[in-house]
Amino acid sequence: MIEQQIKTAIRDIPDFPKPGIVFKDITPILKDPQLCVNIVDAFVEKLKGIRIDAVAGIESRGFLFGLTLATRLGVPFVPVRKAGKLPFTIKQKAYKLEYGTATIELHTDAFEPGQHVLIHDDLLATGGTALAASELIQEMGGVVAGFSFVVGLGFLNGKERISPVCDRVVVLAE
Ligand code: 5GP
Repeated sequence: MIEQQIKTAIRDIPDFPKPGIVFKDITPILKDPQLCVNIVDAFVEKLKGIRIDAVAGIESRGFLFGLTLATRLGVPFVPVRKAGKLPFTIKQKAYKLEYGTATIELHTDAFEPGQHVLIHDDLLATGGTALAASELIQEMGGVVAGFSFVVGLGFLNGKERISPVCDRVVVLAE
């Protein structure tokens, strides 16, 4: 099944990007076209019945399946980018990291107020990034349709952090 296929494909990289962190490298998934199809199929299946007017993919690995998913759902894809990357007028949100802060941005015309936006990323860790994206979308008048991730690090309790915003959280492999 899909969970096992994903777990078999991803690899652990110890001490990346800094000592003590075990990074989940998802790039081997991208070398397996059938697995990529299966992943998008699984998202489509699990998101059935949910109103989704746009998919917001988080830079940069959230772009990989986010665009394909949006295309399969027949809705727009909108990129959530790090500060200073989007060329049009933007709205931004600063959020706390373990050390310091980060800022994410969306184009002001990414979606219309009242539209239901699915937040997508490759991996859910603490949930801080997805939470900031959800707050930004809500501040812009959007409704969070749900969250979707290829991988989740269950021990970091990201799901608990984001589910108060919207409890439709799809994680294909935990
Ligand atoms: P969070 O905000 O949930 O703590 O971290 C999730 C964000 O950091 C996502 O944008 C994700 O791409 C990135 N990230 C954190 N740890 C990893 C990891 O081990 N592997 C991958 N592929 N991304 C990670």
